Amino acid sequence: MEVELFKRKKLKKTKARKVILEEIKKVKTHPTAYELFNIVKKKLPRVSLGTIYRNLDVMSENGLITKIKTNDSQTHFDGRTEDHYHIQCIECGRIDDVELDILKGIDTIVEERIHYKVLYHTINFYGLCPECLKKRKKQTLKNDLLKTGK
Ligand SMILES: [Zn+2]
Ligand SMILES: [Zn+2]
Repeated sequence: MEVELFKRKKLKKTKARKVILEEIKKVKTHPTAYELFNIVKKKLPRVSLGTIYRNLDVMSENGLITKIKTNDSQTHFDGRTEDHYHIQCIECGRIDDVELDILKGIDTIVEERIHYKVLYHTINFYGLCPECLKKRKKQTLKNDLLKTGK
C-alpha cells in the first residue's frame, strides 16, 4: 500500500522515506522532526537529523503526511492525511486527534461574509490531557489535605 502511495505521488521511494512513513503511521503522538529522528534511528542507525528534516518536508509537500502547526511553535507531523482536528495539552504538549466531523458549513459562512473562496480551515483545541488532569487533581487533593491538616 505504501509502495502505491509513493507511485501515485511520483516520489522516489528511498529506504529513509519508507521507514519514516512506516514509523509516522504507527504512532499517534504527532511527533516533531526530532522525536521522529529518535524513532527512525532505531531502524536506521546512520540516519541524520538533516535527512529526517528534508524528507519530512518533501513528504508533506507531496501529501504523504501532514504538517501541523500549534501554539507551541514546533512543527509536528501526522501520518494521517485526511482532514481532522487536533487537541493539544497545554501542560505536556501532547497532541491527539479529535474525532469530530469536519465543519464544512463554516467555510460557506465565511465565504458569504467576506467573499473569499475558502480552500480549507484549521481548528486546534487546547486543554489538559487525561494524564495531566489526573496529576492536577492529585495535586489539589494534596493541597486540600495539607490545608485541613493545619
Ligand atoms: Zn498533558
Ligand atoms: Zn492527527
